[in-house]
Amino acid sequence: MIGTVIKSTGSWYLVRNHQNGQLYRCRLRGKFKNKGLKVSNPIAVGDEVTLELEGNEGHAVITDIATRRNYIIRRSTHKAHHAHIVASNLDQAFLVVTLASPRTSFGFIDRFLVTAEAYQIPTTLLFNKSDLYDQEAQAYLKQVMDLYGQIGYPGISCSAHTGEGIDEIKGLLKDKTTLLSGHSGVGKSTLINILVPDLALKTSEISAFSDKGVHTTTFAEMFEVEPGTYLIDTPGIKELGVVEMKREEIGHYFPEMRTRLNQCKYNNCLHLNEPGCAIQAAVKAGKIALPRYESYLSLLQDEDSHR
Ligand code: GDP
Ligand code: ZN
Repeated sequence: MIGTVIKSTGSWYLVRNHQNGQLYRCRLRGKFKNKGLKVSNPIAVGDEVTLELEGNEGHAVITDIATRRNYIIRRSTHKAHHAHIVASNLDQAFLVVTLASPRTSFGFIDRFLVTAEAYQIPTTLLFNKSDLYDQEAQAYLKQVMDLYGQIGYPGISCSAHTGEGIDEIKGLLKDKTTLLSGHSGVGKSTLINILVPDLALKTSEISAFSDKGVHTTTFAEMFEVEPGTYLIDTPGIKELGVVEMKREEIGHYFPEMRTRLNQCKYNNCLHLNEPGCAIQAAVKAGKIALPRYESYLSLLQDEDSHR
């Protein structure tokens, strides 16, 4: 039997059987080594696994894992070299942001996008709460959507309250596994409620498998929108763990910088004050948006402080 891990607590795994959609509570058999990767969890949400049934109804053992197409990890903030696989086999990410109540900062958006670039996960921005925008905010929304659209990140203006943009979002979700992310207060839970049919039922079905009274941390959970279409929620995770990168590499994860890097005079240019820097020239000429360049500078500084 083949299935997909939809929830994990570290000691057991909930797996959806591909054939009949039934859920199985699973444990692991044998050692699952992750080549070249030191992680605290061998199996993660999104993994495609092989199951063998156990004696008890609804119980199974995970005996094998298919090679992951990709995965995102989260580094431990207090233990260096310890990492956790948050989710695997993602087709795309949707980042929910808001330009009002609360306003998502460019810094937050760009940090997410840089990480998504590093993982090569295509990202769409969902500008939620459009019902709250007055004319001025609408104009600003258009500017921001254009800015990101031009560098390759499509945006959808939506409202979980009025339903604007929801059909478009559903269309983009179809037949894909999508990571849904966003800082708290942007309306992520409200959107999940709209997008996942029978969410309350599914949630109770899933929690029926939980160890009662045992405190467990879950990092991600996968919901079925319809067969073949899945949403991965990461409750409690504010941002993706920024991938470890060299200072000279950061520019590669800004698509509008990436295309210009070979025009800088020095190939180790950090685009600060170096002469002959194509990036600084493009910022001055208005070809690279100033907020994006500022996000770049701030990421550069973060990497500096980690040294
Ligand atoms: P989360 O923290 O991202 O999961 O956010 P929630 O889904 O809990 O929503 C936070 C607040 O924003 C709640 O009071 C929601 O009712 C409200 N909210 C969510 N979506 C919208 C929207 O499209 N328009 C407006 N006006 N409020 C929204
Ligand atoms: Zn440069």
